[in-house]
Amino acid sequence: LFVCLEGGEGSGKSTQARRLVDRLAAAGRDDVVLTFEPGDTPVGADLRRIVLSPETGDLDPRTEALLYAADKAEHVARVVRPALERGAVVVCDRYVDSTLAYQGAGRVLDVADVERVARWATGDLRPHLTVVLDLDPGAGLGRFEGRDRIEGESAEFHHRVRAAFPAMAAADPDHYLVLDARAPVEEIADAVWARVAPLLD
Ligand code: C5P
Repeated sequence: LFVCLEGGEGSGKSTQARRLVDRLAAAGRDDVVLTFEPGDTPVGADLRRIVLSPETGDLDPRTEALLYAADKAEHVARVVRPALERGAVVVCDRYVDSTLAYQGAGRVLDVADVERVARWATGDLRPHLTVVLDLDPGAGLGRFEGRDRIEGESAEFHHRVRAAFPAMAAADPDHYLVLDARAPVEEIADAVWARVAPLLD
């Protein structure tokens, strides 16, 4: 089972990913992998530094999209696919939808192009469920503004990103759960679990 969490800055994805992993363990799943993009492989960590360090400065949007795609290729090949093949539950903090939202909608690249590259990079591996934690960027960015290359982007950029996630969910409701990220942590965790539990075999 492959479950992804998506959303903007400060939406609580990492907290909810950990909650979900705890519940999976409590339910007796002994092989649960918590992972994230970008950066959860040795080469990915270098790519993450390049794409997020303010010292990198401006990148051509295509360069940025390809660096994220390289991170994904490495991540899927070395972490996600091997785990799924041995029967693990994989919980991933950001995946292809983040690329469609940030490099596609955010950078105003052709989303169909970005999607083709991302599907190629991942061998078209798709999550069984994507949880979108929807949050107004003004609320999420407060704590973080300027922390990395992306978080320092304009409000318009972050609004385009925010709008992209629920739009993807609306186009494929069977594979998405959209939640208001302002709800209490436990309430969100309960809603995620209610959707994930029936997917376990
Ligand atoms: O989820 P996390 O906060 O670790 O993401 C790190 C940064 O990478 C965030 O600023 C996010 O905006 C950015 N990012 C991005 N494009 C992606 C994935 C993450 O710009 N495809």
